[in-house]
Amino acid sequence: MTDATLAARFGTPLYVYDQAEIRAAHAALTAALPTPSRLYYSLKANPHPHVAATLAALGCHAEVSSSGELTAALEAHFEPERIMVTGPGKADGTLDIAMRHGVHRFSAESPTDLQRIGLAATRAGVVAQCLLRVNADRVVTGMGLSMTGRASQFGVDASWVAAKPAEFRAPGTQVTGLHLYMGTNIPHTDRLIEQFRTSVTLAADLKGALDVSEIDLGGGFAAPYAHRGARPDYPDLADRLTDLLDDHLSGWRSSAPLVSFEAGRFLVATSGTLFCTVLDVKPSKGRTFVVLDSGVHHLGGMSGLRRLPRVIPDLLTTDIRGVERDCVLVGPLCTPLDTWSDGVALPAVRRGDLVAVPNVGAYGLTASLVAFLGHPAATEVVVDGDRLISASRLTLQRIAVA
Ligand SMILES: *Cc1c(COP(=O)(O)O)cnc(C)c1O
Repeated sequence: MTDATLAARFGTPLYVYDQAEIRAAHAALTAALPTPSRLYYSLKANPHPHVAATLAALGCHAEVSSSGELTAALEAHFEPERIMVTGPGKADGTLDIAMRHGVHRFSAESPTDLQRIGLAATRAGVVAQCLLRVNADRVVTGMGLSMTGRASQFGVDASWVAAKPAEFRAPGTQVTGLHLYMGTNIPHTDRLIEQFRTSVTLAADLKGALDVSEIDLGGGFAAPYAHRGARPDYPDLADRLTDLLDDHLSGWRSSAPLVSFEAGRFLVATSGTLFCTVLDVKPSKGRTFVVLDSGVHHLGGMSGLRRLPRVIPDLLTTDIRGVERDCVLVGPLCTPLDTWSDGVALPAVRRGDLVAVPNVGAYGLTASLVAFLGHPAATEVVVDGDRLISASRLTLQRIAVA
């Protein structure tokens, strides 16, 4: 099915995710990682059941941080043993739901978090397997732990773990490794390696203090966001990581410790396109306002929080009529905040034109202000190349609470 056919059939705004591209991204990433290693898919990037299911079928594990993501992972056929629950504030309800579904693996973020996980595990009659999330900014090897870290709600300071490992034990839990997630969206192998070197040396330093049978080195793999372009290549990453691990963690080749990685955007960003219709083009005080049927309630809501780069999307059209300078690209919401870009050159579009925003398979709909102003969510279609897999729309529903 062509894009125009999909847009005609399902209307716009319309997200289309292509499973074939997810498989290509997965193949590229696994080729860039050392063998053996485990790869977690972070559902935060896109929890759509058929997106997540593609990665479940490819053998990924799942990293989830809420009961909603946990449910999405189970629906996507990640077995409970392949799911890890992360996040700095795990409520009892979330933990009990995890236990009820046989999910017993967690990233613990503090002694209190560890105790709370342990109480939930004890209520369920199991022992929870926990990675301890450790916050390191920089470690100078050969000098013990030299922290110049930023304060963070994530994890515990490495110096705390090194000094008082006994504080990281709790009934109902077994600490089985470390979780180190330091950065994101890093397009260059050198910087990625620098980050992994910090993590690997930290893990090697903490091996005496804790049982370390898994080391989750996090990720940071980059992807384009709402722009044309490709996933970065990391041509020599696998070799350089292999050398790094050989130098510091002998045994990793026989999974002792097991080395793991996490990725969200790299795996799914390039699979997604958002199709929109131009609702209006109008002048205002010398400038051109292009009004689309989609806005910050479908894409880029979080960029206002500076958690994501500002969405200044490329608009792709099949109908090239030239370029319009100094445009303001806005959505239908009754707030001036619903502006994707301001002062940009855009293709000269007209009312009724179909336009496409590329590379929005990660941090799209669910990273946006879906409830604000009550417009319907964009329809989400999943295809596999030319084959239609599913079409659905997310709704918010008010339920009575007794
Ligand atoms: C958000 C997150 C990820 C995924 O980040 P990407 O930049 O999408 O790869 C991985 N791990 C943790 C702990 C996260 O919070």
